Amino acid sequence: MIFESLSDKIQGTLNKLKGKGKLTEKDINNAMREIKLSLLEADVNFKVVKDFIKTVKERSLGSEVMESLTPGQQVVKIVNEEMIKLLGESESKIDFSDDITVIMMCGLQGAGKTTTSGKLALKFKKQNKRPLIAACDIYRPAAIKQLEVVGKGIDVPVFKIEGENDAVKIANEAFKEAKKKGNDVLILDTAGRLHIDEALMEELQQIKSSLNPREILLVLDSMTGQDAVKIAEAFNSTMEISGVILTKVDGDARGGAALSLRAVTSKPIKFVTTGEKMSDLEPFYPDRMASRILGMGDVLSLIEKAQESFDMKQAKEMEQRLKSMQFTFDDFLMQMEQMQNLGPLDQLLEMIPGANSKQLKNIKIDEKELVYIKAIIQSMTKKERNDPSIINGNRRKRIAAGSGTSVQRVNRLLKQFNETKKMMKKMGAMEKTMKKRGGFK
Ligand code: GDP
Repeated sequence: MIFESLSDKIQGTLNKLKGKGKLTEKDINNAMREIKLSLLEADVNFKVVKDFIKTVKERSLGSEVMESLTPGQQVVKIVNEEMIKLLGESESKIDFSDDITVIMMCGLQGAGKTTTSGKLALKFKKQNKRPLIAACDIYRPAAIKQLEVVGKGIDVPVFKIEGENDAVKIANEAFKEAKKKGNDVLILDTAGRLHIDEALMEELQQIKSSLNPREILLVLDSMTGQDAVKIAEAFNSTMEISGVILTKVDGDARGGAALSLRAVTSKPIKFVTTGEKMSDLEPFYPDRMASRILGMGDVLSLIEKAQESFDMKQAKEMEQRLKSMQFTFDDFLMQMEQMQNLGPLDQLLEMIPGANSKQLKNIKIDEKELVYIKAIIQSMTKKERNDPSIINGNRRKRIAAGSGTSVQRVNRLLKQFNETKKMMKKMGAMEKTMKKRGGFK
């Protein structure tokens, strides 16, 4: 995952500082040298690294740190603040103030334009918008087909004119179609080339001046690192982009592009894509990303993900049952299924504060284990699920045979269930105490 090794290294450096009661100038210098190296290894632009270190060092040597009782913590705070600035400060939203918001996607071939057009359309659809995607890549016949498949998968219409070789005309006709059909967002999937060339830029500029898009989003493959930054500079100088979508961050362990783009181009990263599924698109929040890098977790994204995937009514009912201590194996199963809907467990764990990637590597997440657990619960009778205390030796044997597992596995699950129940009880008691004190609303 993105920033994995950077995150490990920076946290290691900062942890050393946190342990000290007093910091000397030498401590700060050493730490800055380490952070500088970590950033360079993460493929962050050299000038960006230099400026970043200079600012952090100056602030760290100032009175806010040196006179503090917790100097190490203060340095962490400064690194966090400066990293947020580097990543872009505030979240960048799409401006939907037009009747038909035109979003022009551009970028090199293979960066992820077509799939990202689909991901964006799906996101807008979930926000009750009515997107239309236009196939403006006239050079690759396969591109139109690909876009049609994408559109079909998410049930979003795709506009095309077969055989037309004027991309500007397609874009204009698509706009008319959107007006006619009542679409309020028009996403233009334009052509890409392997390299930036004049003909491509010329065509993109023509589409731009003809439709005056509200957003010109540059789709960049994060795995190309500093090349992505160079491409962004080139596109920005001719097209004046409004923002960037960084793709394939699931495969980019370094994160150099993400950390350099804003400083070099002054354009915000608006979204990142994290996989090949249509739902793998996330808004880019600089503060949350900085938290993740520094191992402070990203609880807000976790909650949002949960809200998108969980059936809130079911969750409420389950909460009620938990409070009244009627937690059953059916609830346990439901909880597990909802967790699975959230996505791969290792990605989720990354968002939890304190769970740095080194520790995560030690946790073996065996998704197959979940399949066994499901099979075991499904082999229980309704009565057993509601009251696991009746599951004696014979029943355990029957359940093991029924689920194709072993008695040991069944025993392990029963133990796990009882522990979960105990934990719920503890949490319930804690909530009550907090409520009494007025600290938990
Ligand atoms: P285009 O040429 O710019 O339109 O690029 P495509 O949309 O066809 O994407 C190129 C390839 O990258 C496809 O195989 C996509 O599935 C893949 N891809 C796009 N975004 C992501 C992502 O976030 N993660 C991963 N793993 N693959 C991606």
